[in-house]
Amino acid sequence: MGCKRCNQNPVISRRYSGEILCKTCFFKSFERNAQRELRKQVNLLIKNSNIKIRKIGIGLSGGKDSTVALHILKSYVGDRNIEIVGLSVDEGIENYRSESLDCALSECKKLEIKLEIFSYKELIGRSLGELLIEKPPQGSPCSPCGILRRRSLNQMANKSDVDCLVLGHNLDDFAQTVLMNHARGDIARLSRMAPHKFVQRGFVPRLLPLRRLPEQEVYLYSVLKDMDFHDGDCPHAGGAQRNTFREILMKLEKEQPGTRHSLVNGMEKIRENMLKPENLTPCPSCGEPSGSSEPCVFCREFGAFAV
Ligand code: SF4
Ligand code: ZN
Repeated sequence: MGCKRCNQNPVISRRYSGEILCKTCFFKSFERNAQRELRKQVNLLIKNSNIKIRKIGIGLSGGKDSTVALHILKSYVGDRNIEIVGLSVDEGIENYRSESLDCALSECKKLEIKLEIFSYKELIGRSLGELLIEKPPQGSPCSPCGILRRRSLNQMANKSDVDCLVLGHNLDDFAQTVLMNHARGDIARLSRMAPHKFVQRGFVPRLLPLRRLPEQEVYLYSVLKDMDFHDGDCPHAGGAQRNTFREILMKLEKEQPGTRHSLVNGMEKIRENMLKPENLTPCPSCGEPSGSSEPCVFCREFGAFAV
């Protein structure tokens, strides 16, 4: 069977929508979806927070998702008067991060975008590897790493004076996070999930242009577009609890195609009915935005290491 739109050879069959698409029609559909998401998210942020967008940061790991998001952002900006700056976090993970940062650098060079790199060493005086030896986590290394990554990206975004921060989270990532927050009953975190519609003091709002595009499609797009991205997994990824949610979602999606999209749509409805996310307040110890009036999770876990 050929492409449902033009009858050329197909490259993808989307079970969730029943579409069969050739390369050209897939590109068009993919780009339209991501551009529409980004436009909507930027416009909502401008409307709700009454801000001007002059500079946009993009979190770059060198993997397929952030690389594709970078290209989408570049074409969104087009000839608008908006500057783009790439922001990368170097956790200091051996045999992994330096290779992926090389890819981020090379794509940024191609697109003439400045890339800034901030390391855990600069944040807490040690790499993730050193931290894991000194302070072994109870569960997966992703828990401390997630706290440090969030802090690093926000600090970089504030330092670079960007108005918002684009991240490459795809549909699978987004649906997994929705499900994880539901499973933990963490409604506060659910309400604070990106894409952010409001600016909170000290916290740079995050936008997710790929949140309705499945991981497999992001991969296909990056390969068919010949992008230079790092195709490896972090050596610590295996122990993450997220993997359980990934498996559950894959099973659900197989039995009932469209489950991931339903989770995104349901989440949107919940958030439309919530007046505003809970306010972030400055941490009494470090001043960074935090979800409670107690010292933030970074100060509780790594305050002694802060540089
Ligand atoms: Fe950090 Fe876990 Fe991601 Fe590795 S997989 S970079 S440890 S959050
Ligand atoms: Zn703090």
